[in-house]
Amino acid sequence: MNHSAVWHPFTQHALEPPMKRITATEGAYLIDEDGNRLLDAISSWWVITHGHRHPRIMEAIRTATETYDQIIFAEFTHEPAERLAAGLIDIAPPGLRHVFYSDSGSTSVEVAIKMALGYFHNRGEVRNRIVVMEGSYHGDTIGTMSAGERGVFNSAYEPLLFGVDRLLFPEPGREQEVLDRFEALCRTGGIAALLIEPLILGAGGMKIYAASVLAGLQQIAARHGCLLIADEVMTGWGRTGTMFACEQAGITPDILCTSKGLTGGALPLAATLATAEIFEAHLSSDRRKTFFHSSSYTANPIACAAAVANLEVWRSEPVFERIRAIEETHRQQLARFEGDMRFTRIRQAGTIAALDAAVPAGGYLAEAGPRMRRLFRERGLLIRPLGNVLYLMPPYCVTGQELTRAYDAIDEVASLVLDRDR
Ligand SMILES: *Cc1c(COP(=O)(O)O)cnc(C)c1O
Repeated sequence: MNHSAVWHPFTQHALEPPMKRITATEGAYLIDEDGNRLLDAISSWWVITHGHRHPRIMEAIRTATETYDQIIFAEFTHEPAERLAAGLIDIAPPGLRHVFYSDSGSTSVEVAIKMALGYFHNRGEVRNRIVVMEGSYHGDTIGTMSAGERGVFNSAYEPLLFGVDRLLFPEPGREQEVLDRFEALCRTGGIAALLIEPLILGAGGMKIYAASVLAGLQQIAARHGCLLIADEVMTGWGRTGTMFACEQAGITPDILCTSKGLTGGALPLAATLATAEIFEAHLSSDRRKTFFHSSSYTANPIACAAAVANLEVWRSEPVFERIRAIEETHRQQLARFEGDMRFTRIRQAGTIAALDAAVPAGGYLAEAGPRMRRLFRERGLLIRPLGNVLYLMPPYCVTGQELTRAYDAIDEVASLVLDRDR
């Protein structure tokens, strides 16, 4: 057991205890080899929306395996991919017309960047710079790391990362400054696209900004013919309270990336949605204008069938009622930390709640995170702080009682970890 060949993601194996085996999943829970039930308060890295092993999605997967495995997706198409594409266009912000499949959030963003560059290239316009927001995260491939925040996570790869233009995070009071800076960048004429996480930066620390800023950025982009790419990989599928976060700003991006909740979290799949204009820029009798991108498992039929079933869950079950209930519990429970010296920046965006632990300065933070994770585990909870940011992003089947238990644990663990240094 201690000699596993597996190299885990974002894991310092020299410091972590041996990995616990999860032997089953069920609703809001992971069940480990010792029979412990862990409340999955972060939806297994944000992918599980309705709950683990939703019966309808599992059934669709079983049925799909009776007729499909992988099918080459050039020259051919299949029913699950067609139904899913039509269903996505139905629920996406109006104006998105085409669906390009890939397999992960990172690839959906890579595809978006390539679509944007291809769009201008095919039109004979020299525009190839990408604008991003400070603190953003778009994935771990070279392209998406280039667009994301730089730091210890990617310093080794820095020599290979391409340059992008960065906007400051639009803190309250600084919104106009950020809009003006974007407008100034657009005026240079070389900007192809603004790539942005709408409303909330996820891995960057659950930082929330106003929908009006997103709307303002969209207007500026449109005015200058610059494309807007919404990375809804985390925010999609109800996380911020609406199906997609862009809805809250009343905007349609030119390109929208979705992945995490697309199959309800059951199987890997991603989609990049684009407007007719972007698709048509790649439409030509000249083969050089083809959109040159594919991954082997593009539009895997079983994953597509899972996603079609996910759409049916959204259509037939009161998912938004569940979301409203989670929002309400967050509101009530977060209130207990108002004015609490251990926490700052208490915030909420739909089903996502976050607060910053007031960790004393002096490099103690690196130790606090893993310690808190361990303490949560001992209390039957999967919660992984991002630095000093404690957050909850539960699957929608979670009950008010379960969520309250997570808040009780945050209260208790914060006391154990934070009060020591006071
Ligand atoms: C998780 C995430 C990604 C990357 O998705 P993967 O499936 O892990 O490649 C991209 N963008 C955002 C906003 C994310 O939260």
